[in-house]
This record gives sequence, structure tokens and C-alpha cells, in this order.
Amino acid sequence: MQHATVDVTFVGGGPVALYGLFYAGMLGLSTRVIESLPELGGQLTALYPEKKIYDVPGFPSVLARDLVAQLRQQASRFLQDVRTGETVQHLRPLADGGYLLQTGVGEYPSRTVIITSGAGAFTPRKLQLPEAEQFEGRGIQYTVSRLEDFRNRSVLVVGGGDSAVDWALTLQPVAARVTLIHRRGQFRAAWESVQQLLNSGVDVRLYHEIKRLEGGERLEAAVIYDNRSGEECRLPVDEIVLALGYVPNLGPIRSWGLELEGDSIVVRSDMSTNLPGIFAAGDVVTYPGKVKLIATGFGEVATAVASARRFVNPAARTPVHSSSLKW
Ligand SMILES: Cc1cc2nc3c(=O)[nH]c(=O)nc-3n(C[C@H](O)[C@H](O)[C@H](O)COP(=O)(O)OP(=O)(O)OC[C@H]3O[C@@H](n4cnc5c(N)ncnc54)[C@H](O)[C@@H]3O)c2cc1C
Repeated sequence: MQHATVDVTFVGGGPVALYGLFYAGMLGLSTRVIESLPELGGQLTALYPEKKIYDVPGFPSVLARDLVAQLRQQASRFLQDVRTGETVQHLRPLADGGYLLQTGVGEYPSRTVIITSGAGAFTPRKLQLPEAEQFEGRGIQYTVSRLEDFRNRSVLVVGGGDSAVDWALTLQPVAARVTLIHRRGQFRAAWESVQQLLNSGVDVRLYHEIKRLEGGERLEAAVIYDNRSGEECRLPVDEIVLALGYVPNLGPIRSWGLELEGDSIVVRSDMSTNLPGIFAAGDVVTYPGKVKLIATGFGEVATAVASARRFVNPAARTPVHSSSLKW
């Protein structure tokens, strides 16, 4: 089914797109957002809804899910066409200069496109044990969607990066016991978080890995071992949170003819790509000095929207700021 033509279509509905939707609406552009996950919010909703964020301007501390709710509220008056549960597979140039975005469910014409697809469709890295699959969703989790599900449970967190450390700290006040194992001798997480971890009640065991899992219908225990001595220890656990990283997959975007550097889209300072009318912002882009943060994505998407507006209407003046508008 073919839909109406809009000025801007956002590919991916993470925090950067949500701010872009607000900003584009404020400048009078018609918009659409297409998101493969069932909900908007990107990594904040899918990976760490219960984690606190400390580095978004204006929020000394905010839960990821609350930031998404605020972004949604800010964008709400301009949310015109939201398509969740659809992945943009193909992007075809149209004779009039716009593009047709095809998802397998619908066909969406657009005058310009802003790609805000983050790391793309990401899948969590799995535990390389034959019995691991049988406990998926029955003791093995890849994210903490609802903190309450972990109340008074014995939890084992596995990993050495920011996610593992953040999850352990988040779960510690709620769970009955939190153990964190990491196969190396040092964490790859932010220094401040690691200091916080070492002063928390989390049972931290470096140089440890999972040897095998035990249980019936549900997970009951993990046998962990010290990878230096081989010494084993059986931990009764209700839940394991695997934070072993994600395998990023740019997926279909790779075949759209965009200039890429690794898994990132190369953009100029106006957030334009090598294809006319296609802009990009947020975690998916690269340029010298790029920092992958929500705050930088917000700035980039405002620039991308202003560029898309100029592309749609070359006579458009430099955007006004919000206080110049009628609210
Ligand atoms: C554990 C963790 C903690 C973090 N903590 C912080 C922090 O404290 N502060 C901070 O600033 N940043 C933090 N980050 C980074 C932050 O989450 C990212 O910078 C931010 O999410 C980037 O937003 P985005 O909108 O560019 O992309 P994303 O949030 O990745 O959203 C992109 C969306 O696009 C969708 N998508 C991809 N391809 C398609 C397609 N073809 N069709 C349709 N939809 C598609 C994806 O499903 C996804 O929902 C953290 C990241 C992690 C993993």
C-alpha cells in the first residue's frame, strides 16, 4: 500500500529521531517515522529503560524510559505518522527527486530522508554454551526491561563493559544478591561507574566465566570458574543478565549506495550524505571527532532537519528559535 508523500521521513525511531520529529514539526515540515521495534525510543527503550542517564543537558539525572517519555511528550503535537514494527528495507529514488521507502508492509514516498538508525538492528551476543538456548526467557535475559521482575532474586550479571556495570549497580538495591563476573582482570566501563561498583554490595569476581548452567524448566544455578586456576564454584541463581555486547548490523542500509566508513554513514557538517536529499544523525553517523552521545545526536538532528528543510524549500530562511514561534 502506498501512502502520502511527506517532507521528511526518519528511518529509526530512537531518541535522536524523537527530537528530530519535534524540531521538524516546529519548522512546519510534515514528517513520518519508521521504526523496526514495537516501540519508539531506540537503545533507551530496548536496552536500558531502567538505567539512569546523567549527561543529557537540563537533566541532572533521568531514567532512560522517562527521557523517552519526555521526548515523546515534546514531540507529541507534531507526531503525524508513526510506523512501528516496520523495517525500511529498500530506498528507491523517485523521478521527482524524492525517495520511496519500502518496508514490506507499506511504501512511503518522502521528499527527504533522515537516517537515525543508530547501530542498526542490533542483536545481543549469545553465551557460547549448548544449554544456554533452553534457558532464554526462563532465567537468561539480555536486558532489564522491568526492574520489579528482579526484586528479591539472585542475579548473576556477566560482562565487563558499561552495560554490565550499569546493570549490576541498578539491580543491586532491588535484588536479593547480585554477582558480577568478568573474564578479564579489568573493566572496560567508565571509571566513575567502576569505583561505584567496587564500593557497592555487588559480589565482583574478575577472571571468571560460566562453565555450565543447571536447571529444569527454569534456570537454577550457574557453575562459574576462575579462568586462571580452573577452580569451580556453583552459584544458585534465579536470573542471569548477559551483557556481552551487541552485534551491530546496519542491515539493509548497507545496500542503499551511501558512503560508509565501517558501519557508519559519512556525513558533512550539514549532516548531508553523498546522496541528494538524504541526511543522517545520531549514532549511525561518522565525521572527524564524532562522539556517540544522546546530546550530540540532538544537535546533529537539528542540523539535519534544517538541511532537509532547505532541500525541500531552497528559499527557506535560517530556522528561527522556539521563542520566536506561537505556542
Ligand atoms: C548500556 C548503554 C548505556 C548508555 N548510556 C548513555 C548515557 O548515559 N548517555 C548518553 O548520552 N548515551 C548513552 N548511551 C548511548 C545512547 O543510547 C546512544 O547514543 C543513543 O541511543 C543514540 O540514539 P539514536 O537515536 O542515534 O540511535 P538508537 O537509540 O540506536 O535508535 C535507532 C533506532 O533505529 C531503528 N532502526 C535501525 N535500522 C532500522 C531500519 N532499517 N528501519 C527501521 N528502524 C530501524 C532501531 O531499531 C533503533 O530503535 C548508552 C548506550 C548503551 C548501550
